[in-house]
Amino acid sequence: MFIPKRVIFEENALNYELGKNLLKRFKNENIDILYSKNGRITGIPGKDNRQMYIEGKNTLVVGVRKTLNFESCKPSAHYQLPIVSGCMGMCEYCYLNTQMGKKPYIKIHANIEEILDKAGEYIESRKPEITIFEGAATSDPIPVETYSEALKKSIEYFGENQNSLFRFVTKYTDVDDLLNLKHNGRTTIRFSINTKDVITRFEHRTPSLEERLKAAKKIGESGYNLGFIIAPVFIYPSWEKDYYDVLENIYDNFKGINLKFEVISHRFTKRAKENILTIYSNTLLPMEEELRKFKFGQFGYGKYIYKDEELNYMKDFFKKNIIKLFGEESINYII
Ligand code: SF4
Repeated sequence: MFIPKRVIFEENALNYELGKNLLKRFKNENIDILYSKNGRITGIPGKDNRQMYIEGKNTLVVGVRKTLNFESCKPSAHYQLPIVSGCMGMCEYCYLNTQMGKKPYIKIHANIEEILDKAGEYIESRKPEITIFEGAATSDPIPVETYSEALKKSIEYFGENQNSLFRFVTKYTDVDDLLNLKHNGRTTIRFSINTKDVITRFEHRTPSLEERLKAAKKIGESGYNLGFIIAPVFIYPSWEKDYYDVLENIYDNFKGINLKFEVISHRFTKRAKENILTIYSNTLLPMEEELRKFKFGQFGYGKYIYKDEELNYMKDFFKKNIIKLFGEESINYII
C-alpha cells in the first residue's frame, strides 16, 4: 500500500464524496495536504531530476478526470480506462519514466462513477461486440486502490455488463479486497513478474517474486482470469536458469488454475535511455545501442531490441518451456 508524503487535492475533487472522505482521512493521518486551484500541480519539491522524481513518486493527487474521451489501447484492449495515472514503483526501465514528466506524481480521480458512465457509452456504441477496457495502461492501480476504490467499482461494473471485459496488470499484492467481488469472470488480472535477480536490480519499491505469486494464487482461486506477464526479459549470464526457475515455481504452485502468459523482451528508445540516465545515473540496465538491433516502431520512433539471433533463441526458450509446463494454449504472445 502506498503511503504518500503529501496529497494535493484539486479543488473540484472536494465536490465529490470520495474527495471529501479522502481529505478527512489524510488529515487524520497527519499527511501534508496541499490544494490546487487551477488544475496546475505545484508544491512538489526537488532541486535536481532525481529528487524531483523521488518526490513526485511520493505525491498523490486527488483530481477529477475532465476529459472523458478514452485513449485507444491496441492490441490488447479497445480502450484505456483512465482510473489512475502514475505509480509508486521505481522500476528503472519503466515506460512511465518517459511519459510522466519530471515529477511523476500518482493521480486518482474522485469522479470514478462518471468515468464508468462514459465506459457504458462506449460499450453501447459498439454493441453487440464486446468492448475490452485496460485499467493499467498508465499506472499500477493496486497501491492506491485503498484510496481510489477504482478497481473495486470497475470490476463490479464490468462484472454486470455482458458486453464488456476488463483487464489490468500489476506487480503489487494488496489484493484481498478484490477477492470477494462479483467479477463474474469478466476481469482478467495479470501479474508482472521477473527473476529475483532482475527484481532486485531494477524493480525498486515493488514486492518480491514470492509475494507476487502468493497474491496471484489468491486471485486465481477467486475465479478471476489470471495471467503472467514476464517482462522485460533480460539476457544475462544465468538468465535461462533463472527464468526456468520462475516457470517451474509457477508450475508447482498453480496446479488446476488456468493461466495465460505474455512474454516481452527488453527494449528501449533513445529518449527513454536519456531519461533513465538522468534519474539512475549508475543504472546497470543493458542499454548499449551497438549490441542491439534498431527497429522502427508503430508510433513513429524507433526502439532498440535484442539482435535476431538472441531474440529468436529467447523466444524459442520460452515457447518450448511454457508449452512443456502449461500447454500451447497458455501462450498469448512472446515478443
Ligand atoms: S510497477 Fe510497473 S508501472 Fe510501476 S514503476 Fe514498475 S514498471 Fe512502472
